[in-house]
Amino acid sequence: MSNRPELPPEIARRRTFAIISHPDAGKTTLTEKFLLFGGAIQLAGQVRAKGEARRTRSDFMQMEKDRGISVSASAMSFDYRTFRFNLVDTPGHSDFSEDTYRTLTAVDAAVMVIDGAKGVESQTRKLFEVCRLRDLPILTFCNKMDRESREVFDIIDEIQENLAIDVTPASWPIGMGSDFIGCYDLLRDRLELMDRADRNRVGQSIEIDGLDDPKLADHIPAHLLEKLREEVEMARGLLPPLDSQAVADGTMTPIWFGSAINSFGVKELMEGIGAYGPEPQPTRAEPRQIAPEEPQVAGFVFKVQANMDPKHRDRVAFVRLASGHFERGMKLTHVRTKKPMTISAPVLFLASDRELAEEAWAGDIIGIPNHGQLRIGDTLTEGEALRVTGIPSFAPELLQTARAGDPMKAKHLEKALFQFAEEGAAKVFKPAFGSGYIVGVVGALQFEVLASRIELEYGLPVRFEGSQFTSARWVAGPKDKVERFVQANKAHIAHDHDGDVVYLTRLQWDIDRIERDHPDLTLSATKEMM
Ligand code: GDP
Repeated sequence: MSNRPELPPEIARRRTFAIISHPDAGKTTLTEKFLLFGGAIQLAGQVRAKGEARRTRSDFMQMEKDRGISVSASAMSFDYRTFRFNLVDTPGHSDFSEDTYRTLTAVDAAVMVIDGAKGVESQTRKLFEVCRLRDLPILTFCNKMDRESREVFDIIDEIQENLAIDVTPASWPIGMGSDFIGCYDLLRDRLELMDRADRNRVGQSIEIDGLDDPKLADHIPAHLLEKLREEVEMARGLLPPLDSQAVADGTMTPIWFGSAINSFGVKELMEGIGAYGPEPQPTRAEPRQIAPEEPQVAGFVFKVQANMDPKHRDRVAFVRLASGHFERGMKLTHVRTKKPMTISAPVLFLASDRELAEEAWAGDIIGIPNHGQLRIGDTLTEGEALRVTGIPSFAPELLQTARAGDPMKAKHLEKALFQFAEEGAAKVFKPAFGSGYIVGVVGALQFEVLASRIELEYGLPVRFEGSQFTSARWVAGPKDKVERFVQANKAHIAHDHDGDVVYLTRLQWDIDRIERDHPDLTLSATKEMM
């Protein structure tokens, strides 16, 4: 990134990121405080309240609430100082890792929130691995320092060893649990004190001239000050100093300590996102990559959400702008179909509510309402035939047969299933032989979510039954060879919603054998969405 040209100021001020965390670490609370300091809400608590009002709208959402997970992701934009932050929400549950993966293709950085008492948890690790696949820069926030937490060196060690990333402290906590009074800001030599009385207020910030400054003693009890000096000296000796290139490359993470619920450490983290965020990065595409500073608009769909409003059958495609300056009413080319599309009612996800987007810049996320033309992985440009790459579709790990509860409604079921397939919520395969549809998901919970959404949104009862197959592989190769293979293996063949050929089996052995006997064919567990 060091060799990149300077970006137009409107693009350079954008920071597009996601928060990754294990459930309960404090993602919602932190989001709320971001919005509070971003001036998007007046009082903390509104995000949750709004979330709940939305959730009561349907039983599906009720299920989401009961299980304490967030199935639907969205985006939020807000300003902080000179920056425009675009926060893209990731579903936290492991059953939705594919959705999460795609969401992370739309951001330039991730904030990893961990609970100071728990350290790196299972879901943190999984999400971290996904970030690593894309070398995303990661900024770490160690939350809940107002509670009894682990020793700071332990936490840092655990991150370094468990996640194999260098950790550099951006701040150092003073005291712990009920003794916690604040942090020493190592990047800016300031003392940050927590205000326990008012959770929505930021405490005092005092400029300090290094750790020997006598002013420190006015604010920190002697025993804590001594410990702070010792620990910081040790940390500076043992841990690497902050290297912005290493952060940009994703090999080093700066860590801030704080307490989201007490609004503490949040502003420092926001400053950190501003400083190391980074600014919008180039997007991988064929036949060439797209640079954010290009004057022409390009963008790609990373998520489709259907039925956001149950009364309208509309869908919203979430588009990450890869380049240029977008204005409402623009005519863009839908590269897959080569058709022009006038974007007359784009949605910008301003934190206060959905609002009509008059303009947006590279790095921003816009929502485009449509009737199904826009699919995950689609590219929009001002005419050039570019195709954004790297948005995969994974082979499902669980397969079941879906049958309409009412046999008269089989056609309707197909429509509903294909729609969810386009949304990326499941894979749907129509077997070459036999009736029913084979539905594949990554996690078992998705079957329940699908069944209740199909009932709710389409009024169709549906049954999921065990399938004779357990694995699906996309078949690729020369056309005539694929065709011959299909003819010879009809009982194992199905087509996905794009019409692509899929081989179904219950034996890994089958897959190995085909790969051996048909060197011209590839059986793939992922398919690039297009
Ligand atoms: P999420 O599941 O990651 O979104 O976590 P939430 O933001 O919902 O927080 C989980 C719980 O931890 C809630 O009860 C929060 O009130 C609490 N919590 C969040 N931040 C802090 C903090 O800094 N200190 C303490 N003590 N509790 C916190």
